[in-house]
Formats: sequence, structure tokens, C-alpha cells
Amino acid sequence: MVVCPKCGKAKGVESRKKTTTCQCGREIQLKRLKLQFLTDSPLVLADTVAKVNAALKGGEKMPSERRPRKKSTSAGISEQARAVRDPLERIRLVASELTALKGEFTIADLQKVSSTLGKDSPEKIIARLQEHNLIYEVEEGRYRSV
Ligand SMILES: [Zn+2]
Repeated sequence: MVVCPKCGKAKGVESRKKTTTCQCGREIQLKRLKLQFLTDSPLVLADTVAKVNAALKGGEKMPSERRPRKKSTSAGISEQARAVRDPLERIRLVASELTALKGEFTIADLQKVSSTLGKDSPEKIIARLQEHNLIYEVEEGRYRSV
């Protein structure tokens, strides 16, 4: 495979040939160019040429994968909540983060962040949140923050 010096397109070529003509009309002297990719498989070659051309089109580099957005996790929630001193505000934050993360949450979800929540059982915390109208029960055992 060679890259045309005129138009920059990659082109598959048999390495025993001395010259090849690019789509743009430029005759490429193979002796002077370093062959960039050697394979005996025409399929692999075609695939590689297509990939390189796609990459050239999109810029200099091969396209890199997008970094996934940092997701909110139980650990992240615990970390945020630990910064909150007020116990009620803390459990409200946990409830609202769990709701943002999962749409709704259960006692089991609260259990996962229980290290943050202190001595109270998840059931007690649910009761407390409901008492202050900070969450509501969507269906039995499933809660959302208000
Ligand atoms: Zn060309």
C-alpha cells in the first residue's frame, strides 16, 4: 500500500510493480516510496486502504474513540455525600443522586451507600425522607426523590 504524494490517498498496490497510477492521475514511482503496508490478502489490503482513507479524510490521525462521560456511581455518590454535614441534607442528596442515576431507587441501593449514611438502617432513612416529603414511593419498594 502506498500513499499518493499528490492527493494523499492510500492505494493498494502490488509490491513487485514499479509504478502505479493513482485515481487522481498521478503516477507513483514505487521505488521511491516506502511501502507502508504489506499483505498477501487482497481483502485485508482493501480494508486497510479504506480505513486509511477514512482516517485521512477525518484529519491526520486515525479516529480515536470518544471518551465515555464520567458516570455517576455509588462510590461517587458516597464521596459527594460525605462532604455534607447536615444528616438530613446528606440523605436528601443521596436520594436525589440515586434518582438521577437510576430513575428510581430501592432500599438495596441505599444499602450500597450505607457507609455514608451512618448508623441508621436504609428503612429508617426511607422513613425519614418520606416524613420530610423528600422522596415519594413510585411503587412498592421503589422511590424517587422529589
Ligand atoms: Zn493521487
